[in-house]
Amino acid sequence: APWFSGVEVEMAPPDPILGITEAFKADGSADKLNLGVGAYRTEELAPYVLEVVKKAEAKMLEKGENKEYLPIDGLAAFKKATVELLLGADSPAVKEGRVATIQSLSGTGSLRVAGQFLSRFCSGRTLYISDPTWGNHKAIFTDAGVPWKTYRYFDPETVGLDEEGMMADLKAAPEGSVVLLHGCAHNPTGVDPTKEQWKQICDLCHERQLLPFFDVAYQGFATGSLEEDAFAPRLFVEEGHDVIVCQSYSKNLGLYAERIGALNIVASDKDSAARILSQLKKIARPMYSNPPVHGARIVTEVIGNKDMFDEWKGEMEMMSGRIMTVRGELYDHLTRMAPEKDWSFVKRQIGMFSYTGMTPDQVANMTGKHHIYMTKDGRISLAGLSSSKAEYLAAAMVDSVR
Ligand code: PLP
Repeated sequence: APWFSGVEVEMAPPDPILGITEAFKADGSADKLNLGVGAYRTEELAPYVLEVVKKAEAKMLEKGENKEYLPIDGLAAFKKATVELLLGADSPAVKEGRVATIQSLSGTGSLRVAGQFLSRFCSGRTLYISDPTWGNHKAIFTDAGVPWKTYRYFDPETVGLDEEGMMADLKAAPEGSVVLLHGCAHNPTGVDPTKEQWKQICDLCHERQLLPFFDVAYQGFATGSLEEDAFAPRLFVEEGHDVIVCQSYSKNLGLYAERIGALNIVASDKDSAARILSQLKKIARPMYSNPPVHGARIVTEVIGNKDMFDEWKGEMEMMSGRIMTVRGELYDHLTRMAPEKDWSFVKRQIGMFSYTGMTPDQVANMTGKHHIYMTKDGRISLAGLSSSKAEYLAAAMVDSVR
């Protein structure tokens, strides 16, 4: 008998986010719109390769560098560039050598390595995850063997932060727990704490001895400013916390398929950082051995060259600006078509997404009747919307919620 007939392998459900793209591709309608995955599109709804990335790649080709293995913890120049982009070049933590940085497979791979580290060295500690959160977080930490619970985050009444719920749940977490926080542009809600609220969360982490664990997938993409979007992790490091931070260059440099990102663990001294780094390498080695070089070289070129760095900032402002523009247009259409409803959340939310509050039935109507593909939780990616399609989307939303 065939060998696999002797083992039971059930059909797995399609991925809740990437499965949407598969369904979208199979739809023959000319009106179809893919607002599922968080990937930037031009006004023509085409994928976008940043000009600065093309320049960096041309330079790389000229240099003709080899394809030797990288060290387990990645390209040294990339590691330096990425931690400085995150914390600032003059950050005392960086200067004192107390940040353990490992280049990893974009945001997801960095989160997975961090999860493995937590389950190996911090067993018995629970990870607190916002409710709701990015669809992959729970699966990543479940697979890594990290026990997790959720904390309240979103208030559907105000379509804003449930500050009271969040603080109460974190206060009630056992001392020494770990808290996963979105560095900026919370996915899927687009609702971030204010600077004042970040300070309160930072104080609470001190009070309850909680380890802040930042997922930074959108630095520069939320407000268009790299500095502004790094406010929260920088604050926690300045306030003396040990901190974990995962970074991704998928969105801000459009390097989705290059799988380039990093895991940074900020410790209180150089010796702990060295021990932590040695263990991160020990985790990565049997998992994927060492990371890919191409994206690391692109990031290093762009950050290391003043002209290219400035050009990158310009392109980030352009991308985040286009998203803010379609937010405004969508809001205007919605308000004109259904003035009895308050649509202001569309403009208030930050980053790529709008969390519409649509129910699964309403989402099914969006897709089934209007060929608009989005996640079941009611999230739409505005990075996949053009000005010319904003009216069509608004009409479908009004039809679906009425
Ligand atoms: N974290 C959050 C909150 C995200 O939204 C994403 C991507 O959508 C990621 C991490 C990881 O993306 P990647 O693995 O492409 O870096």
